[in-house]
Amino acid sequence: MRGKGWEAMAGSVLPGERPDRLEEACAVFGVYAPGEDAARMAAFGLQALQHRGQESAGIAVGDGETVMVHKDTGLVDQVFDEEVLATLEGHIALGHTRYSTAGGGGWTSAQPHISAIGDEVIAVAHNGTLVDTKPQRAWLASQGVQLHSNTDSEVAAQIIGVETLRTGHLREGIRLMMGKLHGAYAIVLITAEGLYAFRDPNGIRPLSLGELPGGRGWAVASETCGLDAVGARFLRDVQPGEIVRIGADGLHSEQGIPAGRRASCIFEYVYFARPDSVIDGEVVYEARRRMGRILAREAPAEADLVLGVPDSGVPAALGYAEASGIPYADGIVKNRYVGRTFIQPTQAMREMGIRIKLNPLPSVIAGKRLVVIDDSIVRGNTSKKLVEMLKQAGAAEVHLRIVSPEVRWPCFFGIDTDTRSQLISANKDLEETRAFIGCNSLAFISLEGLHQAVQADHRGFCDACFSGDYAVPIPDRLRRSAGLE
Ligand code: SF4
Repeated sequence: MRGKGWEAMAGSVLPGERPDRLEEACAVFGVYAPGEDAARMAAFGLQALQHRGQESAGIAVGDGETVMVHKDTGLVDQVFDEEVLATLEGHIALGHTRYSTAGGGGWTSAQPHISAIGDEVIAVAHNGTLVDTKPQRAWLASQGVQLHSNTDSEVAAQIIGVETLRTGHLREGIRLMMGKLHGAYAIVLITAEGLYAFRDPNGIRPLSLGELPGGRGWAVASETCGLDAVGARFLRDVQPGEIVRIGADGLHSEQGIPAGRRASCIFEYVYFARPDSVIDGEVVYEARRRMGRILAREAPAEADLVLGVPDSGVPAALGYAEASGIPYADGIVKNRYVGRTFIQPTQAMREMGIRIKLNPLPSVIAGKRLVVIDDSIVRGNTSKKLVEMLKQAGAAEVHLRIVSPEVRWPCFFGIDTDTRSQLISANKDLEETRAFIGCNSLAFISLEGLHQAVQADHRGFCDACFSGDYAVPIPDRLRRSAGLE
C-alpha cells in the first residue's frame, strides 16, 4: 500500500450512504414550446434524466410575464404531482435534477436558482462544477451581492445578473460570466420570454439540442434520452463555448467565448449516460459494447460464462462475450427500486451490503468460472462484496474485468470523487487491489483501448481521472486538498 489512510476511508455501499462509484452531478432540461404545457414536458424530460441525480428536482416556468419555480428534495415524481404541475403555467420551462457535489445538499442547493436582474426574473440550472469560485465570491461580495447558497451555480447566476445590469444585455452578461468562471458547465437559463443554453469552452459536460415535432418549439437536455422523452428530434450538440438563444424570433446561436481544448468527459460513455443516449455522434450502448470487445482482446480469461454487473456492465459483457466466444449469461439480478429510502442504515442492513441492490442467480453461476464485467472501481468495497457474493453463490472462479482504466485522480468537473487517498488504484498496485477484492484475476481496459472504443465525432476527451491530465488548470489550494501534491 503506497498511500496513507486509504482503508480507514473505506465506505459502505448502501443506498443513502456515500456510494462506492463515481456519481454524476446533475441533469438539465429546457423547453421552449408556445401553446404547450412546458412544465409537464420538463417533468417528462427530467424523469428520463433521473439517473443523473436523485437528491432534488426542480422546474421553473416562464409565461411571457414572469418566472415561477417549484423545487424540493426527492425524486422527480416525488416532487411533482398533478397539483404542482397545474400551478406551473407557461410555455418556457427549465428543469434540473441534482446529485450534490459542490455546496452540499438540501433545499437551498436545489435548482433552478431564481434571481432578479433589475425587474427581470431569471432561473438558472447548471450541470458541472466550476473550479474554484472563491475569487468570484469575493468579487460578488464587493458588488454588494449576497449569496443564498453555497453552490457554484448561484455564483454563475449572480455574475450574469451583475454583468447584465452593467452592460444592459443578458447575452453580454452570459458572455462575461463565461470569461470569468472556469471549469465544467452546461447551463440552461430562462427569462419570462426566452431560453438560453450554453456550455463551457472545453465541452466537458454534454448538452444536446432538439426540435419538437411539427416545429412547435425546441428542447435542450443533458442527454438525448431527455429529448426522446418529449418526442423532440435531435438536432445537434450545443458546441463548446456556444450560446444558444431561443425566443419569439426563433433560435439563434453565437460563440460566447472561443472554444478551448476539447475535453468531453469520457466517463459519460463508461457509466454516467443512459445507454440509449447519443453523445457527440456516438451511441453510448455501442461504445460500451466496443469497450467489452476491446477488453476481451486486451485481457482474455479462461472461463465458462461472461456476466455483466447491471446496468452499465451489461452491454460491455455482451461485447466481451462476442469477442471471446465465451457465452454471456444473466447471472446477476438488479433491484431497480432501491432509491434513497434507507437514510439511516442499521448495522444489520450494513452487513447485507450490496445484496439490497444486486443478487446473484446460483442456478446460473454455481460451479462456473466467471468473467464479470463492471464499469469502474473507485474505493474497491463494492467489488469486494460483489466477489464475495458470487463466491457464496457457488462461482468456482471470478475474473473481474473493468471497462475503465484505474481511477487514480479526483474529478474537479462535476463528478463526486474524493481525494486521492480514497481511490484504491491511487494507493495499491494491481496485485494488491486484486488481493483486496478477492477475485481470481483482475484487469482494466487500457486508456488507449477506452479511447478507441468511443467513436464520437471528435477526439478531444477528458480522461483526467485516469491520467491526471486536467484540461482546466486546478488551483494549488484544490490540488493540495485533493492530495495531488
Ligand atoms: S475527470 Fe473523469 S469523470 Fe471527471 S470529467 Fe474528466 S473523465 Fe469525466
